[in-house]
Amino acid sequence: MPAPGSQASLREMNRLRVLDTVREHGALTQVEIAGVTGLSAATVSNVVKELDSAGAVILSPSIRNGRRAVRVSLAASTGLIGAVVFGDRDVRVVIGTGGKEIVAQKRMPLPADHAADEGIDRGARLIHELIAHSGHMPSDVRAVGVGLPAPIDTVTGLVGSNGILPGWRGVDVRAVMQEALGTQVLLDNTANLAALGEAKFGALQGVSTGVFIKASYGVGAGLILGGEVFRGSAGTAGEIGHVTIDENGPVCRCGNRGCLDTFVGAQAVLTALRATHGSLTLRDVISRALDGDAGCRRVLEDSGRHVGVAVAGVVNLLNPEVVVLGGQVSRLGEIVLQPMREAIERCAIPSAAATVDVRVGVLDPDVADAVGALALADQVREDADRAALLVGQP
Ligand SMILES: [Zn+2]
Repeated sequence: MPAPGSQASLREMNRLRVLDTVREHGALTQVEIAGVTGLSAATVSNVVKELDSAGAVILSPSIRNGRRAVRVSLAASTGLIGAVVFGDRDVRVVIGTGGKEIVAQKRMPLPADHAADEGIDRGARLIHELIAHSGHMPSDVRAVGVGLPAPIDTVTGLVGSNGILPGWRGVDVRAVMQEALGTQVLLDNTANLAALGEAKFGALQGVSTGVFIKASYGVGAGLILGGEVFRGSAGTAGEIGHVTIDENGPVCRCGNRGCLDTFVGAQAVLTALRATHGSLTLRDVISRALDGDAGCRRVLEDSGRHVGVAVAGVVNLLNPEVVVLGGQVSRLGEIVLQPMREAIERCAIPSAAATVDVRVGVLDPDVADAVGALALADQVREDADRAALLVGQP
């Protein structure tokens, strides 16, 4: 890196300023770039020349105020990005080129009590198959976002609880996945990733203070503060599933008692229906509730109410504009949203409850976390493109 304040560092800063301006506003003429950045016309002209020879921008002729001008747009990032997202019962791999579009995807079931090496091995094999199948080489993938349905301690890189996802205890998932995939890996929990997906492309777009609730086999939250995913001091913020609802309640897999998860997690839902409905999966319960089965509907309405009680606490603390329900349970729409809203109104302070908009996510709950994992990988690719641009420049 050039010394701060030096001529080289000034040029570097100007290049980044022009790149960021074009990234934010789309194609602009050099006069417009000068207007936005405050740089002189001569500086913009030099910087654009440098960026063009580095292949970072595309120049195209246009007419502005009747005069000929050159429009500057960002060259597309090259290469693919990927995502490997572990659910409680499956692993899903996707590849994309940027944005929310998924180019190809594959899914494979995983046993509930699988060990980390088995999951990592299947995930790596699956994404390599997907890459080969779409006519690419593993080296075409620039970065991969990996999601786990557990709190992840970003300081140690380990799963931040002994009881949640026990097969993954003590494994440095990022390092092992990086080794298995041969590319840069970013790791986050799936509720944060789905929140990021909704923030980039869905119901939390443009929202400054928002809460995303992922209700599937387990329940988790992703917090959006200042428009960004808030991960807390060590990455485990948003663990709403392990907020205590009843201190004398059933013992939770995290070791605590009466966590929200023990009331609304798949285990609780399926147990409540076992005597009357026999052995069902969560997906069965959801589709029967949608078909009007009174028992399945009642259990999921109760889930909505319990989630609402816990969310009311978050509404009091953060005063969010929007609460988005995602995950498989969100397929029920108003059936769970209504009791959730009622609980928020009952338990949160009136002014915060009155202003919060509670709605379901926009992205398909099956892929929302994968879309977020792609967005995370895309950020890394963009940063790498920027860094490459700065290296070896005069
Ligand atoms: Zn718990």
